[in-house]
Amino acid sequence: MNQHVDMSASGDKAARQATGLVGEPVVRLVDVKRHFGKTAALDGVSLSVGKGEIIGIIGRSGAGKSTLIRCLNGLERPDSGEVHIEGREIGRLDEKQLQPLRRRIGMIFQHFNLLSAKTVEENVALPLKIAGVSSTDRLRRAGELLELVGLSGKARAYPASLSGGQKQRVGIARALAAEPALLLSDEATSALDPETTRSILALLREINRQLGLTIILITHEMEVVRSIADRVAVIDAGRIIEEGPVWKVFADPQEEITKSLLQGMRPQLPLEFMQKLSPNLGSEAVLRVDIVGETALGPLLADLGAQAGTFRFIHGGIEQVQGHAVGTLFLAVSAGAPDLSRTMEFLTGRGARIEVLGYVFSDD
Ligand code: ADP
Repeated sequence: MNQHVDMSASGDKAARQATGLVGEPVVRLVDVKRHFGKTAALDGVSLSVGKGEIIGIIGRSGAGKSTLIRCLNGLERPDSGEVHIEGREIGRLDEKQLQPLRRRIGMIFQHFNLLSAKTVEENVALPLKIAGVSSTDRLRRAGELLELVGLSGKARAYPASLSGGQKQRVGIARALAAEPALLLSDEATSALDPETTRSILALLREINRQLGLTIILITHEMEVVRSIADRVAVIDAGRIIEEGPVWKVFADPQEEITKSLLQGMRPQLPLEFMQKLSPNLGSEAVLRVDIVGETALGPLLADLGAQAGTFRFIHGGIEQVQGHAVGTLFLAVSAGAPDLSRTMEFLTGRGARIEVLGYVFSDD
């Protein structure tokens, strides 16, 4: 890491989080409202983002994400409420006063927004040119940033010769040029294939760790949030409907919208079982068992067999989210007493959440 690029000490993030001492938030929204006619694009959004935090703001199309971004960078004025960036309320600033504050926010976009007639280094240096930095200094800085994003060899190339992932790396270098306090990512990986998405997210995580940079990820993809965010806020119809550490929301989503955004990421009962399920009593009950933490790590199924009775493990598994084991298992358990009640008792005793999905006949 080049010293010039090292904007702040970042290693103390975990300590700050552990003690709760996060200081003045980089972003603080207080009851922000923005209506378009009868549509409430933002309907009272309050949210704080601490220094060094990566927060994912996720929502379906039309949820209010773009309006939120525009309110953050001062392109849109809320009807009411407050938007604070690094402790300054930006809602009442005029265009001239907003300029230096906008430089505190770096942005990356789904379609990269690079200038095709300019070289990679000129693209990266552009924000510095606008800020009046000398040609020598800005090209030196562009070189450092291109090294940071792994594109040193491409300084003189034109965007058209780059892959999508490389273009986004240039976008990231450009966003960092003016040493922003906040990086705002607007669907930055939505146009990339899964492997490139992973490498770009890994780069963002690395930059967050090395520079202590605060990152807001606006996305409709829960996978993006899961891979690098510390916290997630789910937005729908202009409101934040659910918010919390990613692993918690992932393990126990409260809202239907959150559950639907998680669909495809959490194990589902396979279709052939779903089709056989009946609400009427059969020989086996099919259970969905959600587990987290110690329960998921321990020898749960071996203990269940030993202490409660036989079962069939139909589907599911355990994965790691932010270092927390989170699991969903689908089990078929003999529906007769005492097997089912013993199984339910055992699993509940281990802190699992259980849902009886229906019944099947074992010889189906
Ligand atoms: P998202 O980015 O999550 O798709 P938007 O912030 O673009 O959501 O939109 C939120 C709601 O506000 C939508 O119903 C949209 O149609 C409406 N909206 C956004 N901008 C405007 C505008 N300039 N004029 C009228 N309606 C708008």
